[in-house]
Amino acid sequence: MTASRCPGCPDGVKHPGKYLCRACWFVLPEAARRLLNRRDSRAYARLRQLRTQLDAGVPLAEIRITA
Ligand SMILES: [Zn+2]
Repeated sequence: MTASRCPGCPDGVKHPGKYLCRACWFVLPEAARRLLNRRDSRAYARLRQLRTQLDAGVPLAEIRITA
């Protein structure tokens, strides 16, 4: 298994199966973390929301997951 770069910060390392590195993950609002931890049929839609906001430059602490 190889680790890859964290999408949320310049030098964090993201482990397989995780969306972000540990440091970024704990900056996310608790509500967003709870939703992102759910692995159901909407999990991919939530990941898309996270990535879209990261790409748009939304600060981690302000990420909102609605799905
Ligand atoms: Zn990170």
